[in-house]
Amino acid sequence: VIAATAMLVPLAACGGSRGTTTAGGSGSDTVKVGISMPEQMLERWKIDGENLKKQLEGYGYDVTLQYADGKTDLQTSQIQNMANNGMNYVVIASIDGTATGAAAEQVAANGGKVIAYDRLVMNTDAVDYYTTFSLEDVGRMQGEYIEQKLGLKDGQKGPFNVELMAGSPTDNNAGYYFKGAWDVLGPYFKSGVLQSKSGKVPASADDWQSIGIDNWDRQKAQNEMENRINSFYNDGTKLDAVLAQNDAEATGTYNTVEAAGWDYYPIITGQDAEKANVQAIVQGKQSMTVYKDTRELAKATAEMIKALVEGKEPKAPDTFNNGVKDVPSQLLTPVTVDKDNLKKVLVDGGYISAADAGL
Ligand code: BGC
Repeated sequence: VIAATAMLVPLAACGGSRGTTTAGGSGSDTVKVGISMPEQMLERWKIDGENLKKQLEGYGYDVTLQYADGKTDLQTSQIQNMANNGMNYVVIASIDGTATGAAAEQVAANGGKVIAYDRLVMNTDAVDYYTTFSLEDVGRMQGEYIEQKLGLKDGQKGPFNVELMAGSPTDNNAGYYFKGAWDVLGPYFKSGVLQSKSGKVPASADDWQSIGIDNWDRQKAQNEMENRINSFYNDGTKLDAVLAQNDAEATGTYNTVEAAGWDYYPIITGQDAEKANVQAIVQGKQSMTVYKDTRELAKATAEMIKALVEGKEPKAPDTFNNGVKDVPSQLLTPVTVDKDNLKKVLVDGGYISAADAGL
């Protein structure tokens, strides 16, 4: 890491404006913030980006928001440009948290601070703060939902058929999400109460990438579920539940079930409370989602930057290790949403309108 940082210094020195020059008409005192978002396939990243931008502009900062289209190289060059343009703060939601490390080091070398957003920047000391939701809790809540709906705690012995999918192998969050779910479901697989006809069960939580879905891609999740359903469940064998770790994977799953023409939907979990998925919960196609109020995440991040600008201590009571350092972090609390509390939490909470929820 030390070598890598040292290597980047000359680079930064030749291209860097070190935050003292002006750009785009803003004065030299204007605080410049870059926001690097991964992609726009999910609504959540659009909402995250817009909320962050709005709030930071409200503080009078000059904000540049960029989306990387799911392409690691593009994200790296976007962040490098932000570094070279002398951004004082760069907020990064990484596609691949390991790949963004070098670009984060360039921001730091140019005198900027890096805040990892939702996903941690890995294996570098050039990340100053991290804001996210309690990651393992997200997976635990998905696992507990399956546990509860199958009555496992009430002694139901099954065996129940459960298919498992994890998140993107390049997303540092995905391992935590799977671990949270596996802490709950793993023992039932071990005892035989739960089984997967596909046999796609990792040997341990550490082996989660073996069931990962590249880029959390909805179509890839759908292809995966089509294969499993066609091979193992189209002879009337009941599929009781599917661990889908976000709403894109949930969509791929319920689309497959719908196309198969079954007269039931398995228990299907999700994450993000995307509009279409909230509607799917109302329609009974998806069972639950883990709601993470991205308005709160954007607010926490913007407030962190404001504190830093004002020379105050930002709120970061937790720490999260990125391989080389304990990054001061703020972890927000996710909430389980299903048809029973959807209106109260999402509609009354102002996250989605009743019409958009399909109510
Ligand atoms: C985020 C999830 C999101 C997924 C796919 C994860 O890192 O925490 O909210 O569904 O990436 O974009």
